[in-house]
Amino acid sequence: MAANKNLLMLPGDGIGPEVMRETRRVIEWMAKKRAVSFDVTEDLVGGSAIDAHGIPVTDDTVEKAQKADAVLLGAVGGPKWDNLPFEQKPERGLLRLRKELELFANLRPAVCFPALADASSLKRELVEGLDIMIVRELTGGVYFGTPRGIETLPDGQRRGVNTQVYTTNEIRRVAAVAFELARKRGNRVTSCEKANVMESGVLWREEVQKLHDESYKDVELSHMYADNAAMQLVRAPKQFDVIVTDNLFGDILSDEAAMLTGSLGMLPSASLGAPDATGRRKALYEPVHGSAPDIAGQNAANPIATILSFAMALRYTFDMGDEADLVEKAVKDVLEKGMRTGDIMQKGTAKVSTSVMGDSLILALNNLAA
Ligand code: NAD
Repeated sequence: MAANKNLLMLPGDGIGPEVMRETRRVIEWMAKKRAVSFDVTEDLVGGSAIDAHGIPVTDDTVEKAQKADAVLLGAVGGPKWDNLPFEQKPERGLLRLRKELELFANLRPAVCFPALADASSLKRELVEGLDIMIVRELTGGVYFGTPRGIETLPDGQRRGVNTQVYTTNEIRRVAAVAFELARKRGNRVTSCEKANVMESGVLWREEVQKLHDESYKDVELSHMYADNAAMQLVRAPKQFDVIVTDNLFGDILSDEAAMLTGSLGMLPSASLGAPDATGRRKALYEPVHGSAPDIAGQNAANPIATILSFAMALRYTFDMGDEADLVEKAVKDVLEKGMRTGDIMQKGTAKVSTSVMGDSLILALNNLAA
């Protein structure tokens, strides 16, 4: 049995615990069939932590997250906690984790499984086989820059201000993540900014290019204005391999790319921090979707986004690419057999529950490993 790998699971609220239960079965399958054991700890975040401790994440949980090799989170939030003041809301727990772990690179793959190509808003031929990775800078830029605020001017008008600001290091560390990912994929990076109208964009372009010339000459680098990237994503999305961009443009481009692939219930993500002395990065893996209160408790949620988030943990934290491939292949097989949760239902397919989707994935894994 390989050395224990430390995983902190934070199921959270709403459908979080339901999708996490099925993910846990995949983790247990790994221990049984691939002799890879995970040392799994479970804890509370979001509304469930508010109910138990009065705050959306405790210091103790943050410390466990700091020590874990990887954190796997379900989703947070729900109507029960909607009327709490902003600072006490479930989402603050997630934001605190991201901040304290200094997770500056957000990875959002947009992969279109052939069986779901017709669920995309684009034509099948444009999206079938799509496999792009958007790397978004997560802790800097206009969402955090100062000065910021709303002020009243002497003439009575109001003025809203936010500041787009990036430093050399902030740009280089996220670009390095993109170049390293590209080396393990199609070896191409497209860096997106608005260097035509923004100084921060000029700096972004120059620093990405410099880092490339110094350390990643083997990777093909191109630069694209972010507005053109938005257009190219719906015109010919398969031209991209890895896209790296700032916090604001990444927010928009990653949501746009996500919708090319079908459903929220299929979309995983990872957020990575700086590497430590051993080269390991702090990491939080989570589905892109929220707690889906409208279907919570009904055994109806699609667990695939969370299971694919675990596959990302296998690939990026635990360096277990073969096992990640297995999980992704099992998802592909189950979809090809016509198994669908409600969110990805199509004509001629069978509607299954969260737990039956889990059963089917375990069966597919067994078949692949046989
Ligand atoms: P949502 O992602 O929870 O749901 C949007 C729609 O997609 C709903 O109709 C839902 O049923 C459906 N859906 C989402 N995930 C699904 C899945 N796995 N399987 C099947 N259907 C799925 O977004 P929302 O409704 O805007 O927000 C609900 C709550 O979640 C709010 O409290 C919000 O603040 C929170 N939220 C949390 C996160 C997070 O934890 N990272 C992200 C977004 C929203």
